[in-house]
Amino acid sequence: MEKLGENSQGALRGETIAYFSMEIGLVEEIPTYAGGLGTLAGDTVRSSADLGLPLVAVTLICKGGSFRQELDSWGKQIEHPVVWDPSEMMERLPERAKVRIGKRDINIAAWQYVIESPTGGTVPVLFLDTDLDENAPVDRKITDVLYGGDERYRLKQEIVLGIGGVRMLDALGFRIRKYHMNEGHSSLLALELLERCGGDPKRVQKRCVFTTHTPVEAGHDRFSYDLVSELIEEGDRIEMLKRFGGSQRLNMTLFALNLSNYINGVAKKHRDVSSAMFPGYVIHSVTNGVHSYTWTCPSFRELYDRYLPGWANEPELLVRVDIIPDELMVEAHARAKRKLIEYVNQSTGAEMKTEVLTIGFARRATEYKRPTLLFSDLNRLRRINSRGDIQIIMAGKAHPKDLQGKRLIEEIFGHAKALKGEIEVAYLENYEMDLAAKMVSGVDVWLNTPLRPREASGTSGMKAAHNGVINFSVLDGWWIEGWIEGVTGWSIGPEPGEDLTPEEARRRDIDDLYSKLEYIIVPTFYHRKDEWVRMMNNSIRTIAYYFNSHRMMRRYVTEAYL
Ligand SMILES: *Cc1c(COP(=O)(O)O)cnc(C)c1O
Repeated sequence: MEKLGENSQGALRGETIAYFSMEIGLVEEIPTYAGGLGTLAGDTVRSSADLGLPLVAVTLICKGGSFRQELDSWGKQIEHPVVWDPSEMMERLPERAKVRIGKRDINIAAWQYVIESPTGGTVPVLFLDTDLDENAPVDRKITDVLYGGDERYRLKQEIVLGIGGVRMLDALGFRIRKYHMNEGHSSLLALELLERCGGDPKRVQKRCVFTTHTPVEAGHDRFSYDLVSELIEEGDRIEMLKRFGGSQRLNMTLFALNLSNYINGVAKKHRDVSSAMFPGYVIHSVTNGVHSYTWTCPSFRELYDRYLPGWANEPELLVRVDIIPDELMVEAHARAKRKLIEYVNQSTGAEMKTEVLTIGFARRATEYKRPTLLFSDLNRLRRINSRGDIQIIMAGKAHPKDLQGKRLIEEIFGHAKALKGEIEVAYLENYEMDLAAKMVSGVDVWLNTPLRPREASGTSGMKAAHNGVINFSVLDGWWIEGWIEGVTGWSIGPEPGEDLTPEEARRRDIDDLYSKLEYIIVPTFYHRKDEWVRMMNNSIRTIAYYFNSHRMMRRYVTEAYL
């Protein structure tokens, strides 16, 4: 095998960027991701390969990483284990790394999956694995389940990812220029670097980049020092953790903040929210993007290839989308829509029609995403439907431990039954990357109703825009930057500067949602087709043009990596 550290992408004098993420969504067949964080990491890797960036990604193998979601007729989620065999898709490298957890040394191996771009760029992705004969049975399970188990299990995973990851990169001969922590799960890598730098934080900071994704206080990993000292080798390590990660409990975000020179949030609003949460730190923003080629459906790829050759590796070319004749764009969308509607009707027995205004909503089923907001007033929905037919396609898995999220799915099934015969509502099983691609290209309107300020960025709306699908969303995360009312889409609820109580805000959200549907969206779709097509164009020209991961990675390179 070619020696990894010596690949030809030596733009940084043979130095490599190491990108650490607890989850990475590369392809559906490698189910080691749970949602937005993972798909973002996947897009990061794909764009890096296209751009020829010298980057290596590190994550966990999580063989029991995900589950296949089945929904019974009441919407009750049934979780089936996904059985897959890494050896069918990846290469097991011979090198080993070792970490000490508690009283035992644990051996770590790595599976390598190489993303190869048509441009010739390659990015190796390393999936760390402790399931080795020489490890104790309990230790062999550490890299099994993504976000599973208790605090102790999670901390063990973070030791393997952060500390084990750095050691594995060494074992493979990489020379690392920067360590990029995608969220705080990997921040123990900075502990390993601290030790190597004789405890000098300045030298560690120079090597570390930290991207935070969590806009709420409770979302940050915290561990009690009782647990930490039980699992992490003694010596002065605990002292260092307390010094940089908080004296009461080990806060992984704080630890990363204190040991990184470049810190960023994933949208401008999220930077502001993070700055308020962590005063005293300079927090930048690099707004997320999606991998244009991956998230553009075949019919639009064909159009872009024909009229904007080179667009996949230079999404800025989408700025000239107006040269595509309207009727071709309408036809490209119709093809994607037919495909989705066929899939929906086949898989759920729904009776959806291709000519009906189709609203899509899919994301992790969890409370703050408010998937049931659209159903707050069924009679209002019926009235809207009487002005012009609508149909609704939804999807999303609930985390196995998220009982509230599971209840939300059941609630939606109840609404679907209540509306049957009037408004078709389908909830598709097993929301994964392939289904996401189908949905974000096949609906007409992409709806998003998160509770502010919980949506750090959000990315599915950017995917929709690549396919001429129009966003209708609460002003949070990336949408504040992408939104031009009536031009690139529509907002729901108060504008960012407005200071309302939660109850008032919710009322405004619901009012806006319904009145814009009734008085703007439905009439435009059915009676002002030209304006609709204009907005499809605008979405591509102003949203896809900017909210792509090529732009995002170029920003990371010039602001954080160089
Ligand atoms: C894009 C994507 C997400 C993230 O979407 P959000 O809008 O950020 O919630 C989650 N899951 C899958 C499968 C995706 O493709």
